[in-house]
Amino acid sequence: MKYDIIIIGGGLSGLTAGLRLQKAGRKTAIISAGQNALHFASGSFSVLGDGVTLPEEHPYRRLPMERYLDEVKPFFAEAGILLGGDPHVNGWRLTPSGSFLQGRFSLEETRLFSTPGELSARKALIVNIPGFLDFNTAFLADGLAQRGIETRIGNLDVEDLTRLRTSPSEMRSVNIARVADTVPHKIIGGVKALLSDEDLVILPQVFGIHDGTIPAQIAAEIPAGVLFVGTMPPSVPGIRTQMKLKRAYESSGGTFLMGDEAVAPVMDTTRVKALRTVNLGEHLLQADQYVLATGSFFSKGLASSMQKVYEPLFGLDVRFPEERTDWYDLDFFAPQAFGGFGVVTDGTFRAVKDGNVIENLYAAGSVLAGCYSQQLGCGGGIAILTAFAVADNILEAARR
Ligand SMILES: Cc1cc2nc3c(=O)[nH]c(=O)nc-3n(C[C@H](O)[C@H](O)[C@H](O)COP(=O)(O)OP(=O)(O)OC[C@H]3O[C@@H](n4cnc5c(N)ncnc54)[C@H](O)[C@@H]3O)c2cc1C
Repeated sequence: MKYDIIIIGGGLSGLTAGLRLQKAGRKTAIISAGQNALHFASGSFSVLGDGVTLPEEHPYRRLPMERYLDEVKPFFAEAGILLGGDPHVNGWRLTPSGSFLQGRFSLEETRLFSTPGELSARKALIVNIPGFLDFNTAFLADGLAQRGIETRIGNLDVEDLTRLRTSPSEMRSVNIARVADTVPHKIIGGVKALLSDEDLVILPQVFGIHDGTIPAQIAAEIPAGVLFVGTMPPSVPGIRTQMKLKRAYESSGGTFLMGDEAVAPVMDTTRVKALRTVNLGEHLLQADQYVLATGSFFSKGLASSMQKVYEPLFGLDVRFPEERTDWYDLDFFAPQAFGGFGVVTDGTFRAVKDGNVIENLYAAGSVLAGCYSQQLGCGGGIAILTAFAVADNILEAARR
């Protein structure tokens, strides 16, 4: 099978690149091995924390940042994903631990405040779903108490969730959403029955797995302010976002090879010629250009042994210090060097192997060297904006 471009990895970066290339009229395929970081996303995409200094090798230094930031919301809106937030200013969202974190683009039901102090309430009702262990109401109550907000935890007992509750492993956010989405009126009724004199209701993000308007429908019916707060993974808004991106990609004519894994590339010193996948066996996939969007260690885009950090598919050059003790800091909370490990690329994000630029292999997203996503607060931004750049660089190279 022959495509214009084959993208390896169906996370935020791979889907963004694929959709942008499809919109430009290219014939693309995405090979997607499995879960990606979006399934764990906490409700907003971060672009860059306030006051941080970009390292010299950071991918943003190769991007037209301001222009791309303006393009993010319209691009996602076309895929049916209505992101909130100001593209150029960080907001703050309430986390499940009751603290605040910066984010730039919020997923549908997440509210970004201009400052943590903007969250004001006299009294809050935190809604607990009995048996659901991935939403720690006590942490939230503590965090809100520190802001002078009095809280009360109320149990929302909707009969329809009883079957799920018989097995603790079933009582996960996505399963709850599948049931709750069929009976939003019962959720609304249950919350109203719990509500006393509170002016704020806090609900876990377990609504609207397919339809992002359901949380807003619930909020509109509750006679108090409503705030949806992230849960432990899996993330309902993250999975919904991934499904919508995938749907938009496929509707634009893209081929999504779900649950397949790229293996055994055929290449010479400067070009990739073909790929094999686990499911297609000896049947080769060919393209003019390839995009590596396989993520970081979490998604196996990067791997390590005791001696080295490596990129497992193509054996690309990876930037990391030789001394293993320089890879990490034993203080768990200290900035970790491995956050900057990743594949080496040239000015247009073409990957490098044994010192040679691979002319038709680009890399995007968290597989790239120099991201330091956690330290710099730039995870989602790296994935989206470098995918824009890779797609544009491929199109530009074809024009030349
Ligand atoms: C747990 C977690 C939570 C995060 N939460 C947030 C957040 O809330 N907000 C934020 O801004 N950032 C967050 N990040 C940062 C995150 O890195 C980015 O937001 C972004 O989602 C990364 O996208 P990606 O496409 O580069 O990689 P990934 O999302 O990791 O996707 C890579 C995909 O490639 C696939 N793959 C790997 N190898 C192969 C192969 N050989 N063949 C086929 N497919 C392959 C993987 O299975 C995976 O599906 C989080 C990161 C992690 C790890």
